[in-house]
Amino acid sequence: MTAQERAIKHLSHWIGGKPWAGSDPASRGDIYNPATGQVTGTVDFASATEVGAAVEAAAAAFPAWRDTSLTKRAGVLFSFRELLRARTGELAALISAEHGKVASDAAGEVARGLEVVEFACGLPHLLKGGFSENVSTGVDAYSIRQPLGVVAGITPFNFPAMVPMWMFPIAIGCGNSFVLKPSEKDPSAALLLAELLAEAGLPDGVFNVVHGGKEAVDGLLTHPGVRAVSFVGSTPVARYIYETGTSAGKRVQALGGAKNHMVVLPDADLDLAADAAVSAGFGSAGERCMAISVVVAVDPAGDELVAKIAERVARLRVGPGDDERSEMGPLVTGTHRDKVASYLDTGVREGAVLAVDGRQHPVIGGSADGFWLGPSVLDHVAPAMSCYTDEIFGPVLSVVRAASYADAVGVVSGNPYGNGTAIFTNDGGAARRFTSEVEVGMVGINVPIPVPMAFYSFGGWKASLFGDTHVHGTDGVHFYTRGKAVTSRWLDPSHGGVNLGFPVNS
Ligand code: NAD
Repeated sequence: MTAQERAIKHLSHWIGGKPWAGSDPASRGDIYNPATGQVTGTVDFASATEVGAAVEAAAAAFPAWRDTSLTKRAGVLFSFRELLRARTGELAALISAEHGKVASDAAGEVARGLEVVEFACGLPHLLKGGFSENVSTGVDAYSIRQPLGVVAGITPFNFPAMVPMWMFPIAIGCGNSFVLKPSEKDPSAALLLAELLAEAGLPDGVFNVVHGGKEAVDGLLTHPGVRAVSFVGSTPVARYIYETGTSAGKRVQALGGAKNHMVVLPDADLDLAADAAVSAGFGSAGERCMAISVVVAVDPAGDELVAKIAERVARLRVGPGDDERSEMGPLVTGTHRDKVASYLDTGVREGAVLAVDGRQHPVIGGSADGFWLGPSVLDHVAPAMSCYTDEIFGPVLSVVRAASYADAVGVVSGNPYGNGTAIFTNDGGAARRFTSEVEVGMVGINVPIPVPMAFYSFGGWKASLFGDTHVHGTDGVHFYTRGKAVTSRWLDPSHGGVNLGFPVNS
């Protein structure tokens, strides 16, 4: 064993309130530092055995947890919030070291996750049912919402803390127990969250983490003890999760990929629009499901807008996530970097103009083996080109030229994805019309990344979401609970007598 092999960390599952101490796994995955390209750790991959142990631990913890008072459940979340705030820097550093994003961006991700924890602290209010006295003479009716049991979350690499926090604070606040299967590419954040939940007083088994890939996911999708599955990731996997999970009788919400358009009308402030396009296109190296990947420039804004974007892109500082000078980090893996870069040549072959070539962009303070790709701009992209039809999920901004507002809306609504979109204009009437007409789930007006606050729900339309409920907000509460309607009459001698008629109000 080399010194480097001895130095690397080894991660395993978190089951029943502690690190898994079971037998050696059949397989493991490598964890990389994307800024150096070096392996920094290994992570155990769960088979059906470990998944079964996690579901069993969650099922054993469920009855006592669902019977724990609302105030105590919320109390655990309040304590968790405090711990998370105190350890944000540590969590952000872990994320940055495995994902590659710059530390301030990682801290921002934790902050957005924290907002869902804060929303979940108020769950007792949202779990209130309705009550109607005297729906019939001497009869009362009321509604309650009850937890489902063991629920699972399967999450992507790009937000290893925030996306799990879209799910588990609400799920456990509602009284469910939870099994998280985070991305195998950056698994450490999930384990720190598990430790903090335990420190906050969450009973053992209410929150569990299993690592791995498809085998672990399939174990959860087919396990009869899992009642519901929340998924966030790419569209082909989201579709598979939805179809497999619902066929197995589970409630499923599966959020998929995206191609987010930013429409810029000619009356917009083009400097502000260029700032927004660059920030939203290249933040987190474009590896955000709400990143702007296509700018739709409405004539005659195109040439000036592209020039302003190019000017700003040239000044971006690309470097390691833990270097304070860096504004954009590396991509998550070498394979992903190569795939993203391949769209530059393909785009040019298909007729686009490479206005900015990120392969030439300088990297400050990085190792040559890091998974680097600077920011690129492909202009004159047409909807038939693969750089437009595919979700690139990297630092490549495409610009589509549109002749009119109507053409621009047609492009956005014609795209199979429908996660987020934005319009930049000073014309309130055009913005209002766009909001009403566009076939996309989350819309920004002069806001390029319109991620809803925790008390609203997050979710796209069309190929960006399979299922009926979005995540967090009231949709999240509905997803993790079942409604029950109760009709009640207390014994009273005047209620005697047989009546075979259908109960109607008299
Ligand atoms: P991914 O689909 O490859 O992986 C997501 C999860 O599914 C991971 O936990 C992974 O281990 C698991 N998985 C991967 N392949 C699988 C398979 N064949 N069968 C079963 N499970 C499998 O996604 P990713 O690369 O980790 O994340 C990037 C994608 O996530 C992008 O497409 C992005 O748009 C999307 N995303 C969407 C949202 C949203 O809110 N809609 C948010 C974040 C990310």
